[in-house]
Amino acid sequence: MIKKVSHIGIAVNSIDEALKLYTGALGLKLKGIEVVPDQKVRVAIIPVGNARIELLESTDPEGPIAKHIKNRGEGLHHVALEVEGIEGMLEALEKKEVPLVDRKPRIGAEGARIAFLHPKATKALVELLEPAE
Ligand code: ZN
Repeated sequence: MIKKVSHIGIAVNSIDEALKLYTGALGLKLKGIEVVPDQKVRVAIIPVGNARIELLESTDPEGPIAKHIKNRGEGLHHVALEVEGIEGMLEALEKKEVPLVDRKPRIGAEGARIAFLHPKATKALVELLEPAE
């Protein structure tokens, strides 16, 4: 079951640089910065109402965010939907032949379980996210 938009992921070259705008000019508050080794990424979490913006900076020149920026420049990377029962949802989507990047959840920022749907189906990269308890 999909509950809400969890976050918008934005690929940036430098979190420090991007934060000047988001927490400076826009006046949002930084909740924290976390490294997610599995995704080779550093994530700045910025709450906005009951959702948040995540600024994504690559920790590795071969990581997915570095490749995204090389191909398309900085900007919108993915939209994340908060769900309940992520394993069951992935099984159901596979049965409906929805193309998936991840058949099993991986661990994302704050210990959430995450899985990406393939953008050839969703048109933009969509992440399903089930928060840690
Ligand atoms: Zn995300």
